[in-house]
Amino acid sequence: MTEKISKNSSDLDLNFRYEISEQVGAKSLLKCIQCGVCSSGCTVTEYVDMQPHRVVASCLLGLRKEVLSSQAIWTCSLCHRCTERCPKNVDYSFILALLRNLAVKEGSVPKEYSSTINTIYNNGFVVPYTGNMKNTIDKRRTKMGLPQLMGPNLDEIQFIINKTGLSELIEKKKEVNK
Ligand code: SF4
Ligand code: SF4
Repeated sequence: MTEKISKNSSDLDLNFRYEISEQVGAKSLLKCIQCGVCSSGCTVTEYVDMQPHRVVASCLLGLRKEVLSSQAIWTCSLCHRCTERCPKNVDYSFILALLRNLAVKEGSVPKEYSSTINTIYNNGFVVPYTGNMKNTIDKRRTKMGLPQLMGPNLDEIQFIINKTGLSELIEKKKEVNK
């Protein structure tokens, strides 16, 4: 359910629309006519705090803080149905990815994402391949005649996570949780 937002005009970030639309592939944001087709076909529309057409309108109006702190930009399943159906060719699913990037830069990331990165950083897998889990998987693979899983190269994985700045994201989350 989308909540009503009240705001003084002086609190709007009027450059927000351009911060998004000037990025490669995002110019279509400015073409939205608020028809609502994206929201009517969205596969997660009943689970988001702000429906797709409201996210677009909020970007255009300058509601930067509300958009970047919304749960809607993370709940999207990136099925691309909104983009396929938009009569004005607004590439909403792509724009959402940009919004996620902006949110991450500001340290606003759901704990599920940062804890997943933490797990990959420490184990190399999304689901840790250790202890009882490893024993169970190994037994099943042996029973099925499959070779044992190769352990990941943790140095390479940690190098990539450090180089891409993802490790800072984990640190930021730890600071928030203190
Ligand atoms: S379908 Fe396209 S034009 Fe219609 S509200 Fe959604 S983004 Fe805007
Ligand atoms: S890409 Fe995201 S916003 Fe668009 S229809 Fe799919 S779930 Fe909804």
